[in-house]
Amino acid sequence: MGLAAVDETLYASLTNELPSFLGSALLRSTNLPSLPAVALQVLEVARSPKASLSDYARVIERDPGLTARLIAAANSVHYLRSAQPTQTSLEATQRLGLDATLATVLSFTLFPWPTAEDAALQTWRRAIVAAVVASKLARQLCPAKVGSAFTLALLQDIGILAILTTYPDEAKTLYAERHMPHARLTTAERHRFGSDHTRVGAWLAAKWGLPSPIVHAIYQSHDGFLTDDMATLCLRLSGPIADAWFNPEPSNALAILLKQLAATETLPMNAVEALFHRLPEQIDLLTDILDLKVSVPMDSQTLLADAQQLLYQHSLTLTARLDAQQQQLNTLQLHNTALEVRSRIDPLTQLANRAWLEQQLKEQFSLCNEQGRTMSVVFIDLDHFKALNDQYGHQTGDLILKRFGKTLASLTRSGDLAGRYGGEEFLIILPDETAQTAKQLAERIALYLNEQPMLKIDQKPLYVTASMGIACLNDGNFSNERELIDAADQSMYFIKRSGRRGISVHGQD
Ligand code: GH3
Ligand code: MG
Ligand code: MG
Repeated sequence: MGLAAVDETLYASLTNELPSFLGSALLRSTNLPSLPAVALQVLEVARSPKASLSDYARVIERDPGLTARLIAAANSVHYLRSAQPTQTSLEATQRLGLDATLATVLSFTLFPWPTAEDAALQTWRRAIVAAVVASKLARQLCPAKVGSAFTLALLQDIGILAILTTYPDEAKTLYAERHMPHARLTTAERHRFGSDHTRVGAWLAAKWGLPSPIVHAIYQSHDGFLTDDMATLCLRLSGPIADAWFNPEPSNALAILLKQLAATETLPMNAVEALFHRLPEQIDLLTDILDLKVSVPMDSQTLLADAQQLLYQHSLTLTARLDAQQQQLNTLQLHNTALEVRSRIDPLTQLANRAWLEQQLKEQFSLCNEQGRTMSVVFIDLDHFKALNDQYGHQTGDLILKRFGKTLASLTRSGDLAGRYGGEEFLIILPDETAQTAKQLAERIALYLNEQPMLKIDQKPLYVTASMGIACLNDGNFSNERELIDAADQSMYFIKRSGRRGISVHGQD
């Protein structure tokens, strides 16, 4: 079994990607988590689908400290109730099983408890929960990759450990909110360090000489659920599910996640249900061995049932909205030819075109006024688009508009209407929404743009920003729909004037 040497090219390109102050701080950090050769070898074993327990034991035996630790874990209360103490690493490995062996090895090398910081402890707990989740999902979706799903999930947040040891004080504030979902955490990290724990983690993994698939998987661990590769999907799901697990309102968090998953259609729902079978027991087992109490008493079947109930209620309201919309459409379609239907769509983005937006806005405006309901509009103008065209060409500009259209389509709900108002201007009509909920949508769009490059050019991610203005029927004396759009447009211009990239609400700025 060969031990991979550090892939210098990969390491260099990941180093280049870090802001230079961060890269040099990480390199200067004397407490950076390290991975001794034996742990690297154990990871190699874990990657092989054919690995046997004796393969593990043979590698572990080379390190007396590790062997002692493993035997102690196997002799912990959990196992001793029913058995004789074990004496050898093979026996210990047999008793613990593959997953627990691997977790023990990595905990031992990476995690210096019991003096560890609360944030490090929480990171490691989350990693353990994620690893159990990933391996359970993999058992359903890609049984040959169970071992590597477990490993990847366990390692996905090593970047946090590196940030914690390099910037102990700043990180303490940053990670103070213990159960912050990682999507938000990475935004905060980028804000402070110009990079996030997926980048730092990949860098560290490359520095250790971990195989490049592991490095890439860590790098992409927060990417979306739209992937055909089931092992990748297991990894990318494991984090958000672990976040939901630790969330103060787990069934709510899980319901939101299930809804996203249902939209991607990549994951068979029975795999999700199977995941929750005996999940707490398995998490407890592992955290007991590692002395990492995860004090979340939880009945996972009830959790899933609650989440599904919430989801069901949600889809009922959605269906009601859809029905109403369908009826409206039916009446309209009586007067429309097939050609006219096509004429509502902007060919580039496949969103509603301006004519359709204006017609819908007019109708919604009078409907909402008549029925005493509210509505909001979000006006979006992409920033510096001319410069972008000049630099990368008009075709690239088109591609970005197309991607942005897809983004809007995926972030809006079915009762809302997103469309292309003009060149790089977009409008979203939100019946029944207040300025506050419209702003939440705008924030989701901004967050998405912050996190997801619209394109990669020569491997370099290209991010786009937008200026957004919001106007709500409640917040002005609007006598027609034109005035509502104008108000949103003016709020958008307020953002342009104040330097671009942002959200402004009519009447608030
Ligand atoms: P600002 O931040 O002030 O919005 O700057 P901007 O360059 O985005 O805005 P401006 O109004 O000056 O220019 C809009 C640009 O959008 C000019 C035009 O070339 C580009 N654009 C408009 N429609 C399309 C299109 O369909 N495809 C491409 N590629 N570019 C377009
Ligand atoms: Mg993460
Ligand atoms: Mg613009």
